[in-house]
Amino acid sequence: MTDFQPIIDNITLQAKKQVDKGQVANYIPEISNVDPNKFGISILDEKAQLYSSGDAKEEFSIQSISKVLSLSMAFSIVGENLWKRVGVEPSGDPFNHLSLLEMENGIPRNPLINAGAIVVCDILISNLKNPKSEFLEYVQSIANDPSINYDEKVAKSEKETGFRNYAAAYLIKSFKNLENDVETVLDFYCYSCSIRMSCEQLVKVFYIFMNRGNCLQNNNYLKLPQVKRINAIMLSCGFYDEAGEFAFEVGLPGKSGVGGGIVALLPNKFCVATWSPGLNKKGNSKLGMSALEKLTTETGLSIF
Ligand code: GLN
Repeated sequence: MTDFQPIIDNITLQAKKQVDKGQVANYIPEISNVDPNKFGISILDEKAQLYSSGDAKEEFSIQSISKVLSLSMAFSIVGENLWKRVGVEPSGDPFNHLSLLEMENGIPRNPLINAGAIVVCDILISNLKNPKSEFLEYVQSIANDPSINYDEKVAKSEKETGFRNYAAAYLIKSFKNLENDVETVLDFYCYSCSIRMSCEQLVKVFYIFMNRGNCLQNNNYLKLPQVKRINAIMLSCGFYDEAGEFAFEVGLPGKSGVGGGIVALLPNKFCVATWSPGLNKKGNSKLGMSALEKLTTETGLSIF
């Protein structure tokens, strides 16, 4: 068993000393005022041992990391039919890209770019009585933590400024790949992105993807072939037009969010989450990426 504590303490020390921490996302007003000096990291291993360092207990806006959770819930409800509505190819484009190349006949390239996640939200709305509360309960129950919640201010802030997401949704709607109206879908999409979690909470939720679909309490949420598919999509599409770079540097399936969080995992071994609000030019956490590169290089633990 690897003792991750000295490794992550050292990573935190180095991260806190870094001068160039990247740029905090400013296109969603409510998340632009986060302290760029925050850095946290947590690891949960296969024996359920939790290691944490830095600001690992502090909550932040998980943003696009939520796309994996909405995908997971929709996939467990509708099964393989999901792939009629959304593809599984990396887009090679930024997360908010709108080009028609990203969509063929209104089918977004994958569920982890905004366009794809908007379709996944539409599927959940069509299949749930109370999408917002049922999605939140799903996430809370995986983590066994009822304190996890939406951030109303962030959701509202994004609803008021997310014009590109409205444009994407209308484009998809024009191809008849949205069953519900754009307002309803975007409202749910913005709420799902606004969920707040700490690194410690994130590793508990993403434990299901490293532990064959089972959470820490051993309840099953996904079948093994479904876990395989979601991890494959995280590896090829989790970092937008930097997915190749993340595989090259880090070598783990994972997902980033513009709140500065990254979560990644090695199946059957460990799940890791980092938080540093400064982003690189591709919208992924700058220090989070280098922390994870150090972790997998030093320990030799990656899928490769
Ligand atoms: N809510 C954000 C958006 O739709 C999520 C983007 C992200 O985290 N990459 O733009």
